[in-house]
Amino acid sequence: MTAIHAPVRAPVPSVDDLTPNAAQLQPVVPLRVLLHRLRSWLPEGRKLPEAIWERRHRGITQFALLQAAGIGVFALLRGYSVLGAVADVLVVGFPAAMGASTLVGRQVRTMSVTVSLMFASAAVVDVAGGVTEAHFHFFVMLGIVSLYQDWSAFGLCILIVVFHHAVMGLLSPARVYGTSDAWNHPVQLAFVHGGFVLSASITHLIAWKASEQQELSDPLTRLRNRTAFVEALDRRLGVPSRAVSVLFVDIDNFKSINDSGGHHIGDIALRHVAQRMVGVVRDGDLVARLGGDEFAVLVSGNAAAASAIGERISQNLQAPVYADGRELFIQASIGVADSELAGSRDSADLLRDADLAMYLAKSSGKNQVVTYTAGVDKIVRERAALAADIRHALESGQFEVHYQPLVDGNTGRVRGVEALLRWNHPTRGLVSPVDFIPIAEETGEINVIGAWVLQTAASQVVRWQRQLPGCRELELSVNLSPVQLRDPDLLKTITSALVASGLKASELTLEVTEGMLLQDLELSRRQLDSARALGARVAIDDFGTGYSSLSYLAKLPADEVKIDRSFIKELGDHPGAIALVKGIIDMARALHLDILAEGVEEVVQQDILSELGCARSQGYLFSRPLSVDAFQTFAAAGGLSPAEVIAAADAVGDASRPGRSDGSA
Ligand code: C2E
Ligand code: MG
Ligand code: MG
Repeated sequence: MTAIHAPVRAPVPSVDDLTPNAAQLQPVVPLRVLLHRLRSWLPEGRKLPEAIWERRHRGITQFALLQAAGIGVFALLRGYSVLGAVADVLVVGFPAAMGASTLVGRQVRTMSVTVSLMFASAAVVDVAGGVTEAHFHFFVMLGIVSLYQDWSAFGLCILIVVFHHAVMGLLSPARVYGTSDAWNHPVQLAFVHGGFVLSASITHLIAWKASEQQELSDPLTRLRNRTAFVEALDRRLGVPSRAVSVLFVDIDNFKSINDSGGHHIGDIALRHVAQRMVGVVRDGDLVARLGGDEFAVLVSGNAAAASAIGERISQNLQAPVYADGRELFIQASIGVADSELAGSRDSADLLRDADLAMYLAKSSGKNQVVTYTAGVDKIVRERAALAADIRHALESGQFEVHYQPLVDGNTGRVRGVEALLRWNHPTRGLVSPVDFIPIAEETGEINVIGAWVLQTAASQVVRWQRQLPGCRELELSVNLSPVQLRDPDLLKTITSALVASGLKASELTLEVTEGMLLQDLELSRRQLDSARALGARVAIDDFGTGYSSLSYLAKLPADEVKIDRSFIKELGDHPGAIALVKGIIDMARALHLDILAEGVEEVVQQDILSELGCARSQGYLFSRPLSVDAFQTFAAAGGLSPAEVIAAADAVGDASRPGRSDGSA
């Protein structure tokens, strides 16, 4: 028995919890939204990485120092006294020298050099006698300062330009402008110059924004990338009073979408996911693509709020995506982590916790939202250990196939068996398929394991057909995983199992679930139709738990539906349940599908099913899944009525359940 537990689902708050009430909305939202928009057009002003800053700063400082010397020479040439020239050199050179000093911090150095560059412009204009051409110098300096990609340096430039033109221009117009016309209208000219400086600034801002975007956004989806996400998360975590949560979203079976449809289809799928996610989050929440098929959302609020958004994302993804004439149904596993949890101190912790929760969602069957709680680390460690163990399980002979009889409900006669995989783990004992199959799907091991199950079960059934009385036409049902369904070699695997065992294709049923088919209907149809062309049958497993839409059922490549045991369980309890099962049976009949009832445990359930005309049954009433030996004993007692079956099954015992007394899967 493994110590693996079901994942913890956070309580989902209602949508009302997420929407600020009307009183809060009115005065704040328009302004906030406006500011938010404005901010999104402007560069974020994210700090340049240290090495890049260092390189740029060194170049700019050297230039500023040279320029200071040049201005001295220019002043002398223009007839300034030595003292006057030295004064100009000092005014421009001193801040540049400060920028070169390592005694002060990065910001001070940046600002000092900025001051030097702008003073240089003012000095050039002054020395040149205010001629218009000298003003061009300001534009060149503005361009150089924009290389810092620093809002304070940029702001300082503008401030100095304004001060120079407005204040100096008014007090001493001859030092700023070169014509008497300008001296008489300094204010107008200040506006004209200001306008040009502003326009030049805007083009720099656009270039700055573009460079930021290139560094911070994902070219495929145009979402923020990992770097941008981590920076934004760090900034949010810097405000300790506000709860912050992270959603970690990973598309289920993305590899097979890519492998089966090509990267082009994969890209379309990713863009759709991005769009849907952006459509679901609230203003101010940040969606990013971390890489591959991994996305993250930064949510203001606690885990409950984030989990509700996660559920909404999950729901939103369900609508089909059309990619090159194909209809894809995308699902995702989502992990949620909350900054208030002890484990999540910084952005790395928070992302790791959300990732762990996502892994748990994935390894517990996918397509769900799981919130990180204290125990998650341990469970994930165990799953990871299982994932490592699973690689050797097959070659070490730790897998075993058990067989659950599929019977004629009226006579109890065995018509076939469903192959159910069991893992005898050397230290954990029997591990349930519910616990390890999602892991095997994640590691990709399921293709090899699934092929082995098919091969082993087919050979076993043929042996029984030959040896056991009354089993000459024994049929076999085998479960397929969605990963196998997308495997381009599936048909080859089936054919070689049939050839090697001698089982007739018509005696083989492949069990798939509805959700699995809909994930990529075109591909599923192609795969299953080619298996059906061989003569194999297809059954829809756990029917009624998925989409169960009539229009889809008609499109599915199926021969049989297996009514999920949750419906059968209710039979006998209330009339509504009977109506529901009758509805499913009628629907299946209308579509010419065979019907099998799963999980029949009580005589009364079987009685109702017989009355409704459901011919085939499977369940503990007839037998639990049995080991090879136990099945032989069971079959030897062939042709039992339900009452006799109970006695026989009790006598045989359940050789297969991994210690779950209720047998729930
Ligand atoms: P499933 O295909 O729906 O198989 C039926 C499950 O219901 C089995 O659980 C079976 O033991 C259980 N069951 C049968 N009758 C009753 C009943 O009367 N009452 C109750 N409570 N349960 C009943 P099991 O063997 O644990 O398998 C669970 C699931 O694991 C299977 O569900 C199937 O989806 C998956 N699985 C098992 N073997 C394989 C395999 O070889 N390949 C793949 N891909 N999946 C497998
Ligand atoms: Mg099944
Ligand atoms: Mg089932």
